[in-house]
Formats: sequence, structure tokens, C-alpha cells
Amino acid sequence: MSDLYLKFVNTPVGKTAAQSLGLPSPIPLKRLKRTDQPFIEGDVLVGAADGARAIATVGATLGASAATLHHASGPDTLADSAKAGNKAKALEITGDINQKFSALVFDATGIKTPEGLRALYDFFHPTIKKLAVNGRVLVIGMDPASCRKAPQAAAQQALEGFVRAVGKEIGKKGATANLIRMAPGAEEQLDSSVRFFLSVRSAYVDGQVVRIGKSTEAPATNPVAPLTGKVALVTGASRGIGEAIARTLARDGATVIGLDIPPAMEDLQKVTDSIKGKALACDITDESAPKLIADFAEEHFGGIDLVIHNAGITRDKTLGNMPEHFWDMAIAVNLSAEEHIDEELMKRALLRQNGRIVCISSISGIAGNFGQTNYSTAKAGVIGYVESMAKQLKNGITINAIAPGFIETQMTAAMPITIREAGRRMNSLSQGGQPVDVAEAIAWYCSPASSGVNGNVVRVCGQSLIGK
Ligand code: NAD
Repeated sequence: MSDLYLKFVNTPVGKTAAQSLGLPSPIPLKRLKRTDQPFIEGDVLVGAADGARAIATVGATLGASAATLHHASGPDTLADSAKAGNKAKALEITGDINQKFSALVFDATGIKTPEGLRALYDFFHPTIKKLAVNGRVLVIGMDPASCRKAPQAAAQQALEGFVRAVGKEIGKKGATANLIRMAPGAEEQLDSSVRFFLSVRSAYVDGQVVRIGKSTEAPATNPVAPLTGKVALVTGASRGIGEAIARTLARDGATVIGLDIPPAMEDLQKVTDSIKGKALACDITDESAPKLIADFAEEHFGGIDLVIHNAGITRDKTLGNMPEHFWDMAIAVNLSAEEHIDEELMKRALLRQNGRIVCISSISGIAGNFGQTNYSTAKAGVIGYVESMAKQLKNGITINAIAPGFIETQMTAAMPITIREAGRRMNSLSQGGQPVDVAEAIAWYCSPASSGVNGNVVRVCGQSLIGK
């Protein structure tokens, strides 16, 4: 699906026209070109408030990148991590800094009072204008729920407002701002999330907050193909977001079972053939579907590692005009089928240790949407399901959700033009996302190194103005 306006405003004539008419001027987002591409390049500035807990591990992650590292000032931990080989050079933070930074990374885990928030201003005020096009702001804080004292909880919660507001200011550069919230003792689990949020893989993930908990699983050893040896089920894989998920997980080394309804078989077969996967014809709302899927996974692979509940439908009508089968179908495809499939896989112990379940919600499930009472209900239910299951799953299995905003697919191409244009532009990046943006976020959830990422709902929406 093509966004002609985005192309037009990035021509010299279009740029001038947009500026003189006060129209949005979205910047094309950089996305992954090669899997062995370093997760970040260029100059990266790292800072930390006193008492920072994450800086040593973040320093080590950055030290393994292709970036030139600078540290603003620092607690001893930063100096230690620099000694450990991360090349960080001290940089005095003044308004006269002359380089452009591909990322500004700040460890705010040590902030314990509202007064301590001044450290954010001191770090970002002189540097934010030096953030490069397509740059990244990443703040690391503590989970406020883990803070025993109210002023600390307040200060840590405050980081969310800061990051969301920064995201809105830097979106015009095609740059993003996100917050990682760490549970006490989860330092070793930060690596995969720091890499994701700093890389071009998170191009359309903006203004998000992700919680990282403690876990015991060892991180991945193969950064280019972290899913080698894993078997993934992707529902609705014949086109759109599902196709991108199937291709991305296969790129990362997984063997993919692509599933779709029988009429979509020709398209599905093309997708699965091209990634050496297997195609499964199945309507997930059929009563026999959970058993069919479980039998297929057992027979061909002896089990399954990654379950991606992507299949979804809309059946829009205002509530008073909605036929009952619209309601029933939207709930069945978008919500109940996922539960029934997971139940069967668990009952038969087919979901293997350190497995991953990923569900697709929607910003409609967060904010509600006109004419979508059925869809919004189902997609909000998905969030409730994920949050509840996250507390129950064992054996290192995690469950998370993605809530896409406006993604360029056949689903959104079918919208009336005015609604489509509004959906595309009403976000900090002034453009729609690509299916691969959702797929990259799912690949991050699925990585063995993301074992501490559990029970999250991350929006892939360019920081949509709709919803929180
Ligand atoms: P799409 O309509 O292009 O693809 C959905 C796929 O699901 C299709 O291949 C379809 O055949 C399959 N499917 C539908 N019902 C099924 C069933 N009963 N059994 C098996 N397969 C079935 O949609 P998309 O835009 O790629 O959306 C993918 C997911 O993302 C959906 O869950 C959707 O609700 C969600 N989403 C999309 C957007 C967006 O902007 N495109 C926004 C928010 C959420």
C-alpha cells in the first residue's frame, strides 16, 4: 500500500508546498536493510542520574554496537563499563556540542524524588536539538509498582509523561522516544529491549512503555538468527501483517506454520513455499480448529515454540444497526479462537519450554472506535487475556500483545479516503506504519533473549493521537 503524500512532501516542490500550507511533512522512516546490520551506528550519548542501576549493562550492550559512545557525566558504574570495553568518551554537555546523535540514552533508575527529575532536564535540554533524523531517545526507569516510597513512585511514573511528550516533539524528525521500566534485579534482561528500541527495527514504535521483569533464561547466542530451531505458528499468514510476521520470523531462523482460511490457500502457499514453511488450511473459529492445529504441530514438529495470534477481522456497524452475526464473528475470530487454541496446546503440553505467545490487539481496543463496538470489545479482551495469562504461564513461557495503529494493509486500504488519511497522519510521525513494523516488534518478543518481557501491550502506532 502506498502513501503518495509521504513521497510527494519529500520532493523539493512538495516540501515547499507543505511548509507554506502548514501541512505535515513526514520524514521517511529508516528500516532494516540487512540482518547483520549493527543495531545502532553513529554517535550515541549516554547519561545517568545518581544511583543509576542499569548503566553498566546498557553500557555493555552499547559497547557491542558499532556506535561511537559518549557519556555525559557519570557515576562510577559508567566509568567501569567504559573500562570493560565500551569505548565511552566523556563529553561535556553544553549548548555548543557539534555532533549529531543517533541516540540519547538516559538511565533514570536512580531518581527517587520529584526534585531528582531535574537530571532529565540537565541531560536532554542541551542535547535534544542535536538528535539526528530518525534518531532515538531511550529512557530507562524503575517499575513504579516496585517503588516502596511514594516520592520515588511519583518520580518513576513521571518518566512516562516525559517520554511521551518528548516523542511528540521529535516526531517531525522521524525520531522516536520510548521508556523501559525495569523490575529490581532485571538488569541482565535489558539487552534485547535496548537493542530493539535503539535500532531501525522499532521505526514505528513511539511513546511506548515496556516493563522488563526478572527471568532466568540465558540470552540468545546468535544475533543474526536468534530463532534458529524454533517452530512458529502464525495465523492469518497469507497476506498483510501476518505475511510480514511469517517472513520476519523465518528470516530470524524459525520454521513457520502459516495458517489461513481455505479460500486464502493459494496466497498462503506462495508465502510458506518462499520461506520453506508449511501451510495449514483452517478457520480458527471452527470447533475442530484447536485440535487440528495441535495435531499438525505434533505430527510435523513434536511441538511448537512460538504462537502468533494474528488472524483478525472487522465487521463495522454502529451498535444499533449491527446484525448479531457481526458481533459473534468479531468476538470469535479476534478473541475466543486464541483462547481455545492456547488451551489445547497447553493441555497437550505442546507449547515448549521458553515458548512465546503473541496476540494482536489494536488501538481500537485501547481507545474504542466509532462503528467498532464488536472489534473494540474483542481487542480490549485480548489485552485482558494477555495480562491474566502472563501471571499464570510457567516454564519460561511469555505472553505479550501488540496493538497496531494505522498499518498500510488491505484492511486499511479498504477504508474511505478521509478516514484513511486521518488515520495515517494523526500520529507523531505523520504516516502509517508498514506490516514489517509489527513483525519486528513480534520478533523482539519472540527472541530467547526477551525472557523478561512478559504481559506487555506495546503499541506500534507512531504514537497515535488516539488512546493513551
Ligand atoms: P488482513 O485482513 O489483511 O489479514 C487478516 C488475515 O486473517 C487474512 O489473511 C484472513 O484470511 C485471516 N483470517 C480472517 N479470519 C480468519 C479465520 N477465521 N481463520 C483463519 N484466518 C482468518 O488484516 P491485517 O491488516 O493484516 O491485520 C492483521 C491483524 O492486525 C488483525 O488481527 C487486525 O485486527 C490487526 N490490526 C490491524 C491494523 C491495521 O491497521 N492493518 C490495525 C490494528 C490491528
